[in-house]
Amino acid sequence: MVRLAIHGGAGTILRSSMTAELQATYEQGLQDALDAGYKVLQAGGSAVDAVQSAVVSLEDFPLFNAGKGSVFNNTGTHEMDASIMDGSNLKAGASSGTSNVKNPVLLARAIMDKSEHVLLCGKGAEQFAKHQGLEFEEDNYFYNQHRYEQWQQALKEDTISLDHNDKKFGTVGAVALDAQGNLAAATSTGGMTNKKYGRMGDSPIIGAGTYANNNTCAISCTGHGELFIRAVVAYDISCLMEYKGLSLQEACDMVVHDKLVKIGGEGGLVAIDKHGNICLPFNSEGMYRGYATETERVVMIYK
Ligand code: ASP
Repeated sequence: MVRLAIHGGAGTILRSSMTAELQATYEQGLQDALDAGYKVLQAGGSAVDAVQSAVVSLEDFPLFNAGKGSVFNNTGTHEMDASIMDGSNLKAGASSGTSNVKNPVLLARAIMDKSEHVLLCGKGAEQFAKHQGLEFEEDNYFYNQHRYEQWQQALKEDTISLDHNDKKFGTVGAVALDAQGNLAAATSTGGMTNKKYGRMGDSPIIGAGTYANNNTCAISCTGHGELFIRAVVAYDISCLMEYKGLSLQEACDMVVHDKLVKIGGEGGLVAIDKHGNICLPFNSEGMYRGYATETERVVMIYK
């Protein structure tokens, strides 16, 4: 049995501003990521390689807020966060506040595999990426007129937002279960439009935005990062399963539809447990999401 679930962010463009053409483009982006990740699982590859491939595909897709499509921070640059976790050994890698690294999830993976650390940030993370021979891109690769306008709007109104005009949290992520029974999770984001220089969200924080443990589940979150950090969302779901015996569905419902709602935490997540159950809960209007099993291939945006 193999399983893959992905997200391209919670919140989504309001239904009223979505056109058929745009919807098809988003769905294609999700399908491509499912293809990229599922191919790895089908070939007997590891869950870690599968989530990495799916997230690279989402990072390269310009409409999601990660990699190429990252939003602007309050100084008009892009600072990206990413993480990856291997549920078979609880190894994890994460990077935060990097600019110009083409695929931050590959940096997170290199930190997990090739450093003695879990989390590197800013210039140090970029330097490590260079030493690892990872690909860099000029600023114009990350430039996007729509994102620029969102930032200008946010600047004018002095707000921070996940995707200002259309209320989209465009972070990307993936979770997988491979044929060996191993779970993995990965998340990547440009963060929030107009966020303060140096701000770190939940995405690179193991236990908040990302978590994987073969004994319980794999989780990748999207939403208002500050609230997801305070609620320690990903680890909380794993703990509810491990210590309280809740099912994946029960644990996800409690955290996303109760605990997060109580503190005003808008967003969602994708989750797979060790039995192959898949949950894609969110408390926002929509969440770009999808999953693939031996018999199903589904992508969805709204409820
Ligand atoms: N969770 C991300 C952050 O706060 C944003 C998102 O999910 O779109 O950085």
